[in-house]
Amino acid sequence: MITEFSKIVGIPESEILSNRRTKEIVNARQIYWLILYKSGYSYTAIARLNNKYHSSVLTSIGRIKGLLEIKDFDVTDIYNRTKHLIQSSMSIANSTITLTRPSLFNAEGKAHEEFIFDHFDCPRCNGLGYIHVGSYNDIEDKDSTCPICRGTKKIKAIVNIDWSASEIKKAP
Ligand SMILES: [Zn+2]
Repeated sequence: MITEFSKIVGIPESEILSNRRTKEIVNARQIYWLILYKSGYSYTAIARLNNKYHSSVLTSIGRIKGLLEIKDFDVTDIYNRTKHLIQSSMSIANSTITLTRPSLFNAEGKAHEEFIFDHFDCPRCNGLGYIHVGSYNDIEDKDSTCPICRGTKKIKAIVNIDWSASEIKKAP
């Protein structure tokens, strides 16, 4: 997604992922995070993906939401040109994960990604939030909070992906 985002805003991927603090780049970077967030990534996952602190991702996304609310010209313009990227991630999130190479690895040559898919109706109560527990002999029906979704009607999937070097091939 970063590649498409980068093309649309006209700022190189490396700049978006960098720590540069010019206003234009900061805005693009934080809008990119908002798009990731709206695509189902948690604050923690976005922080990990971008080598940032959870708190700075939280603050940045809050800042962008605030600027969109007051219709800041620059931020609204970039967001309107890139928000369709949210939609495409959502449809992927519903069923399939497309693996793309992560751009940031830690010093040990490893990268970790976490995806949270939070759109599934509970299969036990079929999205009702409660289940019927009365038997045929009971005079009164009894409903009980669904033990699977705990009344939230939804279940989520947390998918963790660990990237590392391939096995080293030994010479024959
Ligand atoms: Zn349920």
